[in-house]
Amino acid sequence: MRQYFVQEILAEGDEYAFDREISHHLSRVLRMKENTEIRIIDGSYAAFSASVFYRDGRTYALIGPREEKGAEEREITCLAALIMKDKWELIIQKACELGVTRIVPLITERTVIRLEKGESEKKVARWNKIAREACQQSNRSRIVEVTEPVKLKDIEKYKSDINLVAYENEEKVSLVEKLHEGSISFVVGPEGGISESEIDYLTSAGFERVSLGRNILRAETAVMYVLSVIDAFGGGK
Ligand code: SAM
Repeated sequence: MRQYFVQEILAEGDEYAFDREISHHLSRVLRMKENTEIRIIDGSYAAFSASVFYRDGRTYALIGPREEKGAEEREITCLAALIMKDKWELIIQKACELGVTRIVPLITERTVIRLEKGESEKKVARWNKIAREACQQSNRSRIVEVTEPVKLKDIEKYKSDINLVAYENEEKVSLVEKLHEGSISFVVGPEGGISESEIDYLTSAGFERVSLGRNILRAETAVMYVLSVIDAFGGGK
């Protein structure tokens, strides 16, 4: 069943008029028939079954019963160093599919991407659009937030119950052994890796170094690997 996120707060019986973008997608791209069942997730993340209808050239949903609240998702924050555009946008899309709940773009010593002042706002909006589409497509029960880029020294506020840094020079501690119940924040470095001074800072800030195995993974692979291992062996929420 297709699902759509909307900003408004909905109630059973509402006739909800979709915005231009979703209207076009439903009527022109999918050519969805009237009374087709869809799911709508409103601004409070409440999920409703709904059925589509068309009136005066616009696309509507008749809001049906509210669905039982799904199991709360585990809070997982990915603090990933900004990397080249295509791979960065791949990280956002795949991390959303794999269960991340927040993505924090990091500026580190070896980050090659530099965002001009005005550019940052436009980029963050694009990244959140990619996240929203990925969450919609993968039937996530909520939308993943992509924050403004932050410097490594400002990451304290994004800590969780478990705080890990995937460090390419770590040879002893594996990711799995650090997973147990609770929310998780994890750091992944850029193409150039994490510097000595950065790993010292992260360790002192309470991020535990973990290895992702003996192979050196690309940053985008490392993010997908961490989220997959959390999903498979994560030790509950
Ligand atoms: N320049 C680094 C080197 O050649 O050793 C590689 C950096 S890697 C492309 C990007 C990031 O992915 C690393 O900073 C780290 O966060 C993560 N990563 C990749 N392979 C890893 C591994 N085997 N163990 C832990 N982290 C890894």
